[in-house]
Amino acid sequence: MTLQTASPTARKATPEATARTAGASALEAALRQFAAAADHLGLDDGLRAILRVPQREYTVHFPVRLDDGSIRIFTGYRVQHNVARGPAKGGLRYHPSTDLDDVRALAMWMTWKAALVGVPFGGAKGGVTLDPAKLSSRELEAVTRRFATELEGVIGPDSDIPAPDVGTSAQTMAWIMDTVSMHRGFSVPGVATGKPLSIGGSAGRADATGQGVLYTIADATRRGGFTIEGARVAIQGFGNVGEATARLLHQAGARVVAITDIGGGVHRPDGLDVPLLRRHLQEHGTIAGAPGTRPIDNEELFALDVDVLVLAALEGQITANNAGSVRARILAEAANGPTTPDADPILARNGVVVIPDILCNAGGVVVSYFEWAQNRAALAWRADEVNERLRRQILAAADAVWQRAGSDSISPRLAANAIAVERVAEATRLRGLYP
Ligand code: NAD
Repeated sequence: MTLQTASPTARKATPEATARTAGASALEAALRQFAAAADHLGLDDGLRAILRVPQREYTVHFPVRLDDGSIRIFTGYRVQHNVARGPAKGGLRYHPSTDLDDVRALAMWMTWKAALVGVPFGGAKGGVTLDPAKLSSRELEAVTRRFATELEGVIGPDSDIPAPDVGTSAQTMAWIMDTVSMHRGFSVPGVATGKPLSIGGSAGRADATGQGVLYTIADATRRGGFTIEGARVAIQGFGNVGEATARLLHQAGARVVAITDIGGGVHRPDGLDVPLLRRHLQEHGTIAGAPGTRPIDNEELFALDVDVLVLAALEGQITANNAGSVRARILAEAANGPTTPDADPILARNGVVVIPDILCNAGGVVVSYFEWAQNRAALAWRADEVNERLRRQILAAADAVWQRAGSDSISPRLAANAIAVERVAEATRLRGLYP
């Protein structure tokens, strides 16, 4: 079926935007990547027009009383990009630069990610524009409970299921689950994933994204003719994803030589003591200044002579300006959208193999799916069962990506996006237009 509409090029995603925000750049990147996949697949104009815009967008402004007694208005977003393959699924971000464009981009990437790894979800993302470091735990709880209340008609186990992302945690998911449960009058564990284990979280979920990053890196090193053991690794970001990735790589025998976070960075050519960094972070709020290390900044970290560079912080880190300095053999996109479209050809020319984000960091959504399925069936799987299922699911997706890249002579990113867009397009076509 061909779905005919007006030319998609006549429609700009953010015509009102005047200033170029980080969110606008992320959205532009997501749209360019989608256009490349659509061109490669020869997607018809109707499907292109449907898939390049989010299906639903919610913006809410809500008041919260701060600890000093004053009232502050917060702005939050939830965007559901496409729900043809199942309920909307995606993280919730608390960050000062979160805006609607940022959330639109991240929601689109979630649609492709869920399709690529074969979990029955559509894509969504949410966020509140705030700096979590500047709010107390009580204030964060109040923001979360009020935001969950504003989204009451939007989120739910059958409709849209949030999970942790930048600036949010298992505790945030516990507050969301409790708020919705209080309103309904009974426990609704399936309304959020990434919850603490004691209230329906899944074994293995806390480390799942990092575990998936590890599996995809191990797979890529094997294909490149070397192993993780002894490989030198540099990592940007030491949060939910970066910390787990660093710890798991360290345990697997890699030499993690440098890590940066928002407060600075640490470098030790013989290999960092990752458990010590975790303790330093807990005590000082940053890894910077950890004993036995020398300082390093992001640009220096990106240019280190390492085997694997892991990006586990934010979007738009490797650009046309610094892509030429990357010397790693493998660039693992543990973050969403860390490489801009202009950087991709430079990396490819220099022989840097990119593990695309929608594959590399998909461990989180895969185990979120397991958590949701366990909640719905009232089951609790063991950690080893979860990790084995995750390993199989993510490596099957990796195989499909590398095979498609080879058969179509295209980059792994284009291959991943082509597989994902093809699946979402098929679901959208089969469901047809309503009415
Ligand atoms: P987080 O808030 O837990 O951690 C972010 C880390 O990045 C922190 O260590 C922070 O200090 C660091 N950081 C921020 N700005 C930086 C800068 N300019 N330079 C260096 N470091 C900087 O967030 P997270 O959940 O680990 O998410 C990281 C990335 O992974 C995001 O792109 C997110 O969308 C993606 N992701 C997260 C999950 C998940 O399960 N949490 C799943 C898939 C993808």
